[in-house]
Amino acid sequence: MADQTVSWFCGAYGSEGIAFGADCFFPTRDGKRTCGSMSACAGNLEAERIRLFNYIHTRAAEGDPVALAIAPEFPSPDDLLGGPPAPM
Ligand SMILES: [Zn+2]
Repeated sequence: MADQTVSWFCGAYGSEGIAFGADCFFPTRDGKRTCGSMSACAGNLEAERIRLFNYIHTRAAEGDPVALAIAPEFPSPDDLLGGPPAPM
């Protein structure tokens, strides 16, 4: 039987997310984690930060007014989705 005990918290939601069932940024339809490990979770979030950063800045470069308004708030991918985990 798989142990569903939470052994890490999602970098996007932080430790506060656990109480609300927000323990993975990439959940299944029924809210279960899809990341198999803390390092997989961190890697998935890192890729998502870069994807989102590129999306915002590409749209801003195209003149999208919403993207232009928010792009200065996110000068680096590390400013998105809670940033990378602190070194342990
Ligand atoms: Zn995850």
